[in-house]
Amino acid sequence: MTFESIGLHPFILKALTEAGYTQPTPVQEQALPAAIAGRDLLVSSQTGSGKTAAFMLPALHKLASAPADASAGKTPNQQAQAARAKGDRPRFQPAQPKILVLTPTRELALQVTTATEKYGSQIRGVKAVSILGGMPYPKQMQLLSRNPEILVATPGRLIDHMESGKIDFSKLEVLVLDEADRMLDMGFVDDIELIISKTPASRQTMLFSATLDGMVGNMARRITKDPMMIQIASSASRHENIQQRVHFVDDLSHKNRLLDHLLRDVTIDQAVVFTATKRDADTIADRLNIAGFAAAALHGDMHQGARNRTLNSLRSGHVRVLVATDVAARGIDVPAITHVFNYDLPKFPEDYVHRIGRTGRAGRNGIAVSLVNHAEGVHVKRIERFTKQVIPVDVVEGYEPKKTASASRPRPGWRPGDGRKPAAKPGQRTFSKPGAPRKDGAAPSAGGAGGGYRGNRDDGRSAGRSSGRG
Ligand code: AMP
Repeated sequence: MTFESIGLHPFILKALTEAGYTQPTPVQEQALPAAIAGRDLLVSSQTGSGKTAAFMLPALHKLASAPADASAGKTPNQQAQAARAKGDRPRFQPAQPKILVLTPTRELALQVTTATEKYGSQIRGVKAVSILGGMPYPKQMQLLSRNPEILVATPGRLIDHMESGKIDFSKLEVLVLDEADRMLDMGFVDDIELIISKTPASRQTMLFSATLDGMVGNMARRITKDPMMIQIASSASRHENIQQRVHFVDDLSHKNRLLDHLLRDVTIDQAVVFTATKRDADTIADRLNIAGFAAAALHGDMHQGARNRTLNSLRSGHVRVLVATDVAARGIDVPAITHVFNYDLPKFPEDYVHRIGRTGRAGRNGIAVSLVNHAEGVHVKRIERFTKQVIPVDVVEGYEPKKTASASRPRPGWRPGDGRKPAAKPGQRTFSKPGAPRKDGAAPSAGGAGGGYRGNRDDGRSAGRSSGRG
């Protein structure tokens, strides 16, 4: 299948050629024809699968193919002038977008907006605008006053603008819920229901989610009509191009020493270190900077400008080690990230899959290393059950744990023969590097990381309306 044979508008084909896309990814092959035909979609696929184009190309196709509308693309000022010319009294005009994409995080929203600008670069007059928590209101009002056809928004801030009458969804044609499972996890269910209740029943709805089970499946059924189900299995979600391993550590000091050692691996181009809390992200980034790494923290307590600057520094290679919380790092797509380190294990196995998917991008290989207390073996097991993959245990010479896993706590179902013995696959490199520098004595992180499974609601809104788990 080719993009041409799918029948995409020539303007979009031109943009895809410029972007260097030669053929559709599997999710695009299934989603594009159905979406262009106007079907609702329920799609289970991961980031990295090409899902943004899977929903945005059909949406742009719809805009590009629509007959010219005399008022389309006019700013409220232009519409007011036109009204005056007709003798009508000019009045305030809310933005009337035709396409709305809801995303769980600001970062993902910005990525979707950037991708939209790329895919829509050849369509004249099509504007995409991000409406995000953390962005100054006057700037957003200015963006909305341009009456953009496409809004990409996080739910909380969007509702603020809806409530103040700045947005009217009566002309909405396409609604996309991107990473719907994550939005529900973050407690956005009421916000999403409220937003959907303001959109026309005639809309086309596309819902993308890592899973279509449970709560997200229930909502998906409520908000779609005769949807086409697309499940993209799973070499991407299994991350077969990512070598995974676990290192057992005795305590925080051992963990910090081992992390420092592992980060000195010369094969690391760039790395993301995941922590459970925002505070740990700051503390560990500071500690790594003192130890000589070009490190930076990324989490939801930072202002949007600071987050953007950090991401730009990561993309430009000025930051080599990003220390991040789950939500802040979600969706990051930087091909030079060769390694992911779980300083803390994530709370849910799904998060593990999202985390390690920050490496191995754009067809490359990646390495994902989890630093695990002995008592956390049960959480590793849960991840293994979820991914249906065994994660080998590795040991670095000079950094061996003193305790064995079984000495600390029984780990039900844990496979025999793991523990301290490196279970390296043939050809698997270990990190043993005789004579590699050791940086002992680093201060343990302030939040007491390592045992803590603390959720982060990282969207810049209070959790007051939240019914989710963070
Ligand atoms: P996504 O899953 O939407 O985050 O996309 C992951 C990456 O794949 C992004 O860097 C996209 O630019 C890229 N991508 C999406 N579709 C294609 C395609 N058909 N050919 C090549 N690259 C693509």
